[in-house]
Amino acid sequence: MLVMSIPEEDFQKYVAAGNIAAKVREQMRRAVSEGTLVIDICEKAEALIRESGGKPAFPCNVSINEVAAHYSSPPLDKKAIPENSIVKVDVGVHVDGYIADTAVTVCLDPEHENLTRAAEEALETAIKLLRPGLSIARFGSAIQKSIQKWGLKPISNLTGHKISRFSLHAGKALPNVFHLSTSRVKVGEIYAVEPFVTTSEAAGRVIRAREAYIFRFVKRKSSKTEHAKQLLNYIEKNFRTLPFSERWLDGCVPSDYHSAAFSELLSSKSLMAYPVFTEASGKRVAQAEHTVVITKDGCRVLT
Ligand code: MN
Ligand code: MN
Repeated sequence: MLVMSIPEEDFQKYVAAGNIAAKVREQMRRAVSEGTLVIDICEKAEALIRESGGKPAFPCNVSINEVAAHYSSPPLDKKAIPENSIVKVDVGVHVDGYIADTAVTVCLDPEHENLTRAAEEALETAIKLLRPGLSIARFGSAIQKSIQKWGLKPISNLTGHKISRFSLHAGKALPNVFHLSTSRVKVGEIYAVEPFVTTSEAAGRVIRAREAYIFRFVKRKSSKTEHAKQLLNYIEKNFRTLPFSERWLDGCVPSDYHSAAFSELLSSKSLMAYPVFTEASGKRVAQAEHTVVITKDGCRVLT
């Protein structure tokens, strides 16, 4: 048994989710090319997860250039991968609620290759460092230094995160910059580790865009219309507390009523939206991400 604090049977579900996530990430790395439709990448990733025996833990994210995270195609999306772009594909898989979260950056712009390499190196630094007792403050500072060594900047307000069953952001964060904290890493914890890197002249933080294409169930509230009730039931039953895409709701209520029902659930705050995150000064961003389990004397990469 690798990790005493997680029952073996549950841990094997993390392992299974991790294996699927890694396989899908590598397939998507090859699927990204100039002119490819973003919706085709999202749907291919999500289909491959389901065929492999997992479920998407969130909609496949394809975030381009200054978009750092949380872009996933809405229904009928026409967006294509632009030339010379830097593309982050972020994939989440769960097996019975046990989540693996992993991302890769595909750089179609030779001039920005250093962003991708710095993000990958920062992730390696993190994996070497993670062990029980490590202070979160020290972790953030090591990631920051690893990125600054390249003459680049970390994104200060995007972090890695602890994962628990059916919860993608389970409290504790793993910052990518020095952060005053007394918190420490513990054995048996599962973390998604994800450094984000931008250029030296960038603001180095993200802001919320107006658009949102990823949503999550928040709470059950009485709905005004039968269709809204039906839609919320479907969402709660199928995705529980995990993020979902509007693409996954096709055929759930008659299409003439879908928009009104969905808007009602958002305005009643039965659902929440995750806005797209863009770099505040419009500079390009790279990301690398793995999910790890903290072991007795270090960590093990699950993805
Ligand atoms: Mn991710
Ligand atoms: Mn993550």
